[in-house]
Amino acid sequence: MTLLYYDPLFLEHRTGTHPERPERLVQVMRHLERTGLEGRCQRPDWQGATSEQLALVHAPDYEATVEAFCQQGGGRIEEDTKCSERSCDAARLATGAACDAVGRVLRGEDSQALCLVRPPGHHALRDAPMGFCLFNNIAVAARTAVCQFQLNRVLIVDWDVHHGNGTQAAFWEDPQVALLSIHRWPFYPGTGRADETGTGKALGTKVNIPLEFGTPRSEYLDRFRSALERLASQIRPELVLVSAGFDAHVDDPVGSLGLECEDFAVLSRIVLDVAAGYSGGKIVSVLEGGYNAGILAGCVAMHLEEMLDRREKPAPDSADR
Ligand SMILES: [Zn+2]
Repeated sequence: MTLLYYDPLFLEHRTGTHPERPERLVQVMRHLERTGLEGRCQRPDWQGATSEQLALVHAPDYEATVEAFCQQGGGRIEEDTKCSERSCDAARLATGAACDAVGRVLRGEDSQALCLVRPPGHHALRDAPMGFCLFNNIAVAARTAVCQFQLNRVLIVDWDVHHGNGTQAAFWEDPQVALLSIHRWPFYPGTGRADETGTGKALGTKVNIPLEFGTPRSEYLDRFRSALERLASQIRPELVLVSAGFDAHVDDPVGSLGLECEDFAVLSRIVLDVAAGYSGGKIVSVLEGGYNAGILAGCVAMHLEEMLDRREKPAPDSADR
């Protein structure tokens, strides 16, 4: 089995005609049910992130600011980010999913989890929403692994078409959480140059692969694989987290780096190989972008199918190294 996190509360984060809209998850879940993939997963119950958990990454008064804005009816909280009355609740549940998944995986309940959540998180900053994101789901989950479960080496892999700037900022000086981000560049949000590698003791633990629009798919995959294998051998992660955005797909209306659905199966296998090689297969994947709902559904299905196949038929070389 694989743990699959989804809750209808995520649809209550209403954004109108915004590309990051409830329809994305409606189509994903419908497709996973139709293809039988959902039935191969376990669906845990979980709670929203606590204020203490959010404060692992965010400023102490930030949650209250978001909550007050939503309670007043929502609207545009930031240039690109819209909220409705229940958006803060949905965002807390999204972050809570990633944290709960980390807990269950580290306690050995399962080795894999996929969190199909919204709003996404990787642009969210310490004290500000950004780029469709309210709370940084993956960053809070990574810090939960370090602070609550005493891990020393966590690896975040971010293949969303946009640079994971919020995640990078959270761990810029933190050597315990490594990050590899592959993204379109120059592009929103403007960060993620190859020379951004962290600072102090964390120098070299942040790896950015900026790729121009028009880069061949084969080059994208080769660069991802070689950079990830290099970073993983250096870090030897005890847990692998994935900021799984699918907006690098050729038909994505927001992003696009020319990828096809099957490329996300290849990316998934590369990351699963790294998890098998270093972290005993322990992997938690959290949805970020992907704005063509039909395409997103197909890509998520490919990603989940690779996880399930690996769980059910581990590769012969998947023993701990
Ligand atoms: Zn994105």
